[in-house]
Amino acid sequence: MKIAILGAGAMGSLFGGLLAETGEQVTLLDINDAHLAVIAAHGLRLETDTGDRHVRNLQALRPSQATQVPDLLIVFTKSMHTRAALASVRQLIGPSTYVLTLQNGLGNVEALASVVPQERILVGVTTWPADLAGPGHVRSHGAGVIRMMTADGVDRPMLERVVCVLSDAGLRSQADANVWGAVWEKVAFNAALNPLCTVLNRPVDALGAVEDGPALALTIVEEVLAVARASGVNVDAIKVSENVRHAIVAHRGHKPSMLQDVLAGRPTEIESINGAVVVAARRHGVRVPHTETLMQLVRLVQAQSTHPQTP
Ligand code: NAD
Repeated sequence: MKIAILGAGAMGSLFGGLLAETGEQVTLLDINDAHLAVIAAHGLRLETDTGDRHVRNLQALRPSQATQVPDLLIVFTKSMHTRAALASVRQLIGPSTYVLTLQNGLGNVEALASVVPQERILVGVTTWPADLAGPGHVRSHGAGVIRMMTADGVDRPMLERVVCVLSDAGLRSQADANVWGAVWEKVAFNAALNPLCTVLNRPVDALGAVEDGPALALTIVEEVLAVARASGVNVDAIKVSENVRHAIVAHRGHKPSMLQDVLAGRPTEIESINGAVVVAARRHGVRVPHTETLMQLVRLVQAQSTHPQTP
């Protein structure tokens, strides 16, 4: 399969590297010139539980340099960069190109629908983890799963092909008719833990210091899942609450990407997580005061870090 990956940071590089290793024709598309230059010179360094190696049979280009129309375009920018990134690859989206988003947050399908018809959009969530260790070097330890569906819910042959291609690359995947349940459950998890850690400037396990931490996180989960239900989505509240409790105990020292972005002075995905929940809550008349307060606090924190005040 000809696969282009738009946004080849941590996740895009992991997926691209593993897919190239199984013989797919992979092109990484990114605007991080240092990352592209290292990959072009030395290959992509891929460090996973199966070893530390360099993958050389892939291309790494700026979006404007790409010319080959892919069968599948996987979008792995952060959500706030999706529209600009897609606009720069319009020339690559052919009449049979499918576009897959496994990004976190809400609103990703709407962004993709600006360049490709609904029937060629695949949407899903992934629990595979990845970190960019440096230019040209991605690290991923542990395992995850991908759950996906077509955006319009119609089962098409390409869905099964993509599930097989990803699974063959070691990225365990499954088609899931209730993909929107999976999307909202992950949004609830992220809306609770990412902003709390970001506002505290502490890793996930710090939320267990006093009982107020888990209590606040679980209140946010309840708010987000109430909005999901009001939107007609079937969600498993017990599973999400258990995952949140488990993360607070088990994810020792882990700084969520939202906190990492703030620490690096980058914008965060707050608008597509808590922000999008607040918008949907207003539409359905659901009250989400804790989710909204955290959104406001993260906006404030983000404003300080991306525009530091002079003393
Ligand atoms: P990342 O910041 O490491 O990678 C994003 C990449 O997009 C960067 O390399 C950046 O240069 C590139 N980019 C930005 N604008 C671009 C443009 N206009 N054109 C091309 N490339 C552009 O982010 P990530 O951690 O890989 O996360 C990607 C998505 O996956 C996010 O929605 C995130 O929430 C989600 N996710 C991440 C993980 C994880 O463990 N990292 C796990 C599950 C889901």
